[in-house]
Amino acid sequence: MMKKAVMLVTLSVFFAPLCFAKKPAPLPIKPENLKRHVQYLASPELEGRKPGSPGHNTTVSYIESQLDSYGLHTWIEEKTPWMFWKSTIKNIIAEVPSRSHPEKCIILAAHYDHYGDLFGDHLLGANDNATGVATLLEIARILGQNPVDLGATVHIVFPDQEEAFISGSKRIASWLGLTCQQVVFTMTLDMVGKGFFKGFDNHLFVFGAESGQSLPELVSEGKKLQGAQFSILDAPISVLEVFGVARSDYASFRSQKMPFLFLTTGMPATYHTAADTIDTIDWALHAKASKFVLDTLRSYPRLSSATFGYIEKKKQKPDYLAASRQISLLMDAMLKFPGENRLNSRDMKWMKKKQQKWARATKAPSLWELQRAVVRIITIVGRNSTDKASYFKSIIGKLL
Ligand SMILES: [Zn+2]
Repeated sequence: MMKKAVMLVTLSVFFAPLCFAKKPAPLPIKPENLKRHVQYLASPELEGRKPGSPGHNTTVSYIESQLDSYGLHTWIEEKTPWMFWKSTIKNIIAEVPSRSHPEKCIILAAHYDHYGDLFGDHLLGANDNATGVATLLEIARILGQNPVDLGATVHIVFPDQEEAFISGSKRIASWLGLTCQQVVFTMTLDMVGKGFFKGFDNHLFVFGAESGQSLPELVSEGKKLQGAQFSILDAPISVLEVFGVARSDYASFRSQKMPFLFLTTGMPATYHTAADTIDTIDWALHAKASKFVLDTLRSYPRLSSATFGYIEKKKQKPDYLAASRQISLLMDAMLKFPGENRLNSRDMKWMKKKQQKWARATKAPSLWELQRAVVRIITIVGRNSTDKASYFKSIIGKLL
């Protein structure tokens, strides 16, 4: 007995360093890399990454060369649209293989296109969506340099032409759905580097967890790893989709019945204006949002035996009572800076009334009531916009 114990101790001491050597320490997000990517992607040299422009081509080469340098299998999917005046779609795809479960897929997506010149303005798209691209490039570097089997093949995709009816991601979702036996979940990042308004700069919105089994669990695993100075607000995607209008590439994954999460730090006053430049990016917030994406991804192996199927819209159970409390938190933050957020007395009265009503409620408010509140908040934020016609212009831009 004694001899055996001694041998076991000796063996474990001998092999211990090998066991440790097998599991390298997980690499962290490097904020300086995020900043470098955003600075380049939103530089005048890339001309606002407008499809068809030389700057757009340079963007494609940049993203592809970065992914190549991390040792990932990378390729570009090109598709000529049937409308002759439209530019060729160039989607960029990188793959991180899994040995244990190659048949399962996780999709991470961030569109890289933007507007460039639009009706006399020069839109460089720093927050929209150089920030999302930078986050995924940094995660690609970590997964490439520190290969750990996540229990699913990770497809890191950079869809083109999100700003043109999400046409790039529509293509990716259609063939990836056929390539993967099971898409366990998808994460779409769009604008993850600027606080929604003054007083709301330590938050990330995570929409859509109701679309998949075990997705709420995955989000709460990711949440647990965040510091006290960063909060995740999760809400049903329907709260955001007034009149059913989709907001970003996640809708392409939803159309293919893939569970989806949509991550954003909000739609600030610089949204779709010439003011969306690198000097308005909140680098600390961008780093925190990026860390959440990586933490959530790394939480997946702990839950991989759970079911990750898509839940049909009819069977989803969005929690609108919880959503009303999240919107109430938004109002709290806004009310702390009434001057900077240009609140008038009517806004303040309205917010306080809603907050009181929702705090007392035991039954969920209607979806319409929540959507109207969201639209009103977005409208108030828009008052700080330097470019009043921006939203209208962007809609017209999408048609051209
Ligand atoms: Zn965007």
